[in-house]
Amino acid sequence: MITLKSRDEILKMRKAGAIAARVLIELGAMIRPGVSTLELDKAAERIITCSGAKPSFKGYNGFPKSICASINSEVVHGIPSRRIRLAEGDIVSIDVGVCLEGWHADIADTFAVGRISGEDAKLVLAAKKSFQEGLKYAREGMRMGDISAAIEAAAAREGCTVVRELVGHGIGRTLHEEPNVPNFGNAGRGIRLKEGMTLAIEPMLSAGKCEVKVQGDGWTVVVADGSKSSHYEHTVAITDGEPEILTLP
Ligand code: MG
Repeated sequence: MITLKSRDEILKMRKAGAIAARVLIELGAMIRPGVSTLELDKAAERIITCSGAKPSFKGYNGFPKSICASINSEVVHGIPSRRIRLAEGDIVSIDVGVCLEGWHADIADTFAVGRISGEDAKLVLAAKKSFQEGLKYAREGMRMGDISAAIEAAAAREGCTVVRELVGHGIGRTLHEEPNVPNFGNAGRGIRLKEGMTLAIEPMLSAGKCEVKVQGDGWTVVVADGSKSSHYEHTVAITDGEPEILTLP
């Protein structure tokens, strides 16, 4: 079931989103060679709990940490660890979920660690560009396929493929709810978008082939052919006009 949110409920999600956005900014400033992903996780948890909120991911289906940190060919769901340290030339996707007074917000971005190759910089930017293309169709009266097709086309223009096994999602009182927001599809198809829908739109791209597999830890999703991956996400509300990004500081 797709739940439509009132203006008041969207305002609550915006408050959760502001915390999530602030966490991502703070973590972005910490990213440098030698930092462990556990240090990033600890900082995130501190900011979230000091804001009176909870990390949405911690304990979700048994996920053990507060953020996901996914390096290079890892797409999503990387588990922060003391043993995993960022290295010069890595790209790292940081995904943050915040729950404030029962309302969730979800945000992600991919960061450069030190100096990265031009090819990797292009991959990182491609995720953001495809999000922005998809966002143009996040309006009442459009169809889900309009968002999906725009993301897929933008990724292809940048020479990337989109991961198909993982998709964006509705979000609200639960972290993941209906509808699915695929990063591939056909314009003019799928459900019609309505005011009050709140969606986590999150392109997950590969520089190579789009197939993925899950690592032995049961969580970390990697590109099967070992190509690098980028990820960009915001929580967005559909309105009767411009889409509203809820994950802004
Ligand atoms: Mg998400």
